Amino acid sequence: MPRILIVEDEMKIARFIELELAHEGYEVAVSGDGRSGLEKVAAWKPDLIVLDLMLPRLSGIEVCRRVRQERDTPIIMLTAKDDVSDKVMGLDMGADDYMTKPFAIEELLARIRVLLKRRARAGGGAEGGVLRAGLLTLDTRSYAVAYGDTPISLTKKEFDLLRYLMERQGQVVTRDALLNDVWGYEYAGDTNIVDVYIRYLRTKIDEKTGVKYLHTVRGVGYMLRHEE
Ligand code: CA
Repeated sequence: MPRILIVEDEMKIARFIELELAHEGYEVAVSGDGRSGLEKVAAWKPDLIVLDLMLPRLSGIEVCRRVRQERDTPIIMLTAKDDVSDKVMGLDMGADDYMTKPFAIEELLARIRVLLKRRARAGGGAEGGVLRAGLLTLDTRSYAVAYGDTPISLTKKEFDLLRYLMERQGQVVTRDALLNDVWGYEYAGDTNIVDVYIRYLRTKIDEKTGVKYLHTVRGVGYMLRHEE
């Protein structure tokens, strides 16, 4: 069964989540502060991390940032308050999802299932590697994207989108497939989000490199293709 690490200093909450996850059949471990959480990630290599934002010794944001330097383990952040700037920072640091406390445990379970399924579908995990399209490279383990020797800095969502397209080079991917697989569970927002992010990638990749990678297939969707 997948391993889930809970990093949470409020022991009542940690214990509650732990029991529920164990009941679902997951292997569960709990760390009570940021630093021991980070050590546990390295030693135990969980398949998913439930990470509280406000933690002693090392903040959740910092834990998230450091985990992302080495691995792409899905991270669900827990925020105590409905603080938009914290959420945005967490997502920028590479969290995949967040939940505001208090939350319904069923919702956390549902989001965990989605992230684990998405990861399995993307072939993520230990066997990840470097994807290439011409001089463009994307390292699924270190989260590094580069064109030749020049690093390209992407947000987590831009990275996820680029990875998805690079794994399907030369194939047309529909907007629905992107929404479903990259954004996940019944994304309720504006469906133009896909176009917005494609535009971000064009600015950061096509315009910077002078190579057209991101192609629009009118009425269908998008395709990443590299032409020598
Ligand atoms: Ca806390």
